[in-house]
Amino acid sequence: VINCEPLKSLIRSVPDFPKSGILFYDITTLLKDKAGFAELIDAFAQYYIGKQIDLVLGIEARGFIFGPALAYRLNAGFVPVRKPGKLPAETITVKYDLEYGSDSLQIHKDAIAPGQRVIIVDDLLATGGTMQATIDLVKQMGGEVAGIAVAIELDFLKGRNRFPEYDVCSLLHYD
Ligand code: 5GP
Repeated sequence: VINCEPLKSLIRSVPDFPKSGILFYDITTLLKDKAGFAELIDAFAQYYIGKQIDLVLGIEARGFIFGPALAYRLNAGFVPVRKPGKLPAETITVKYDLEYGSDSLQIHKDAIAPGQRVIIVDDLLATGGTMQATIDLVKQMGGEVAGIAVAIELDFLKGRNRFPEYDVCSLLHYD
């Protein structure tokens, strides 16, 4: 994998967002940097080219930024995984627990054909709850999870330990 560590200088850390005590990693400062954005997508592409990826799934909302750019590079299709009530046709829903309460994600019922090789893309892996829920959706539909791609991984939360059977490609690490 390309060494992306220098790209960390393009990530902005925002204390106390969205609430007090949380340090938020803001990717918009990377996105607006033409070389930085290209390097990030190139790194993902290099990792997955040749792995016969049929579909890139992007998780709302920031997975919608990296996902389509990567799908284009891989000659793959793009599928949005959305918050409830946003997709117009028939959907499948997965509910998952948060620290306080729960949340849901939806995908169109006909979005993945059985046996299709899918990678799931998001900007950041924290506890892995969002990713686990999306994995569950793909499996329910008979898709094959060929990989998990995140720009940033918060290593100290050990999110990847929730899905040891899958290959996680994460480009920037924070502890
Ligand atoms: P998890 O479910 O792994 O605990 O949280 C990951 C989800 O929360 C991702 O969809 C990600 O977009 C969002 N998220 C949590 N913390 C941050 C952060 O510091 N920066 C960004 N950009 N997204 C975050």
